[in-house]
Amino acid sequence: MINHNYKLAAAMIGTLALTGCQLTNYKPLPHVQSRLDIYQPVTLSADLSHLSQNQKKMVSLLIDAADVMDDLFWKQSYGEDKTTFLSRIPDPKVRQFAQINYGPWDRLDNERPFLKGIPTKRPGAEFYPKEMTKDEFSIAGLSDKKGLYSLVRYDENGKLKTIPYAMAYGPELKKAANLLRQAADLAEDRDFKKYLNMRANALLLNQYQPSDFAWMSMKTNPVDVVIGPIETYEDQLFGYRAGFEAYVLIKDQRWSKKLAKYAKQLPSLQRGLPVPSQYKQEKPGTNADLGAYDVVYYAGHSNAGGKTIAINLPNDEEVQLKEGTRRLQLKNAMRAKFDHILKPIADELIVPEQRNHITFNAFFANTMFHEVAHGLGIKNTINGNGTVRQALREHASALEEGKADILGLYMVSQLLKKGVIREGQLEDYYTTFLAGIFRSVRFGASSAHGKANMVRFNYFKEAEAFTRAPNGQYRVNMKKMKQAINDLSRLILTLQGDGSYAKVDQLFAEDGNIGPLLKEDLARLSKANIPVDITFIQGKEQLGL
Ligand SMILES: [Zn+2]
Repeated sequence: MINHNYKLAAAMIGTLALTGCQLTNYKPLPHVQSRLDIYQPVTLSADLSHLSQNQKKMVSLLIDAADVMDDLFWKQSYGEDKTTFLSRIPDPKVRQFAQINYGPWDRLDNERPFLKGIPTKRPGAEFYPKEMTKDEFSIAGLSDKKGLYSLVRYDENGKLKTIPYAMAYGPELKKAANLLRQAADLAEDRDFKKYLNMRANALLLNQYQPSDFAWMSMKTNPVDVVIGPIETYEDQLFGYRAGFEAYVLIKDQRWSKKLAKYAKQLPSLQRGLPVPSQYKQEKPGTNADLGAYDVVYYAGHSNAGGKTIAINLPNDEEVQLKEGTRRLQLKNAMRAKFDHILKPIADELIVPEQRNHITFNAFFANTMFHEVAHGLGIKNTINGNGTVRQALREHASALEEGKADILGLYMVSQLLKKGVIREGQLEDYYTTFLAGIFRSVRFGASSAHGKANMVRFNYFKEAEAFTRAPNGQYRVNMKKMKQAINDLSRLILTLQGDGSYAKVDQLFAEDGNIGPLLKEDLARLSKANIPVDITFIQGKEQLGL
């Protein structure tokens, strides 16, 4: 009896404690004060004067649809109600930091919690049940086990099951689909109209491939939107499941023409890859295109933490093999990062004699060729291990980013030599690339890009592709850099082709970390108050809509 009362009392105290906890405000951890200014606010704007009234209304509707993706990504990454969570953070600067991170974990600091009482972030985020173990998942007989577009949950018998996004997020996706259809009604470009309607269907039917094909066949639309569950970086447990995101884009026709000539080089670049022929046997799509865009709205995954300045889509391997990919260079966002981050970094970390090689032209080209390089190499392993993505599981994204970076640079060298690229000199591209590594490794090693950059940095260091002066400034060694680029390209393409999960796992474990000297150098960047990334002041108001 006493025992029973004791239990009851304990249960009541438990309830009270829980209620009390729900009412308590979140306090920031002390270290977060130094993190609150790492994002430079930048206003996203673009010239819309060439658009008709209907097209402007359409942009407005696309922004509304993007907002739905934003809410869905909050659910996928954080889970509980976003409004309640944010309302419990009284300090406006900390609240804004939580908004940028889509939750209480610092995306550019290995997902470290920045609020008191917050547990470590689960690698599977909200895609998988809290209690689920990796082993449990691996032996579960699930249909759609590696599905991009489903959640994993327990059924009433405690067995794992999958729930398609279209079902799990039904009301939200219906709303987004409606907005896309309204936008389609206003679209003046026929192919864009078709794509918007098909994308609306994709959200409702949980089938994205037909709309990916439709997206690839559009060529002349002045407005574009990338929307839906797309990248799998948020699923750090397996890298299978996609996070919701959106980009609303205005095409820069003049720059896009300039870029079009590089697409013609794809087949010969694939043939020229520095790797045995079995590792380059797939043919990249020939109508792959490059375009320059101004982004007017980021939402969901694309707006969380560090911002992407170039996109290469679709991810669907079948579409890629048939149609290639589209590479979108986000010019206004790139310029902002170059001015506010890359140049100030070079002023701290690159030897004075090489600083004149830090140019926007090289930065633009390196980023552009990173995207080209995603379309090169192979998508399927050469030994029957399935697709590279499946074979390399949670490491697939990081290695793919590493491949794109290094092959991009390899291509720049080739095209300069051939005279296809006429701007700048090789020193510009290499030096700007090195400064770019410093920019990226400040992301920490948790993101796919951050990990890939660390592996490359350590590889270059060992190959003496750069040297570090005692004062902490870096100098590119042109000759050794060239050799290191070839060697690392070969290594990555081979690892992908063989689908060697174990070797990649080892590579990341050994070389994916930031050493003490580099840590010191990166600390100098924080001391100089150089922002780590940018955050956007964006929306209809900024566009005059
Ligand atoms: Zn990439």
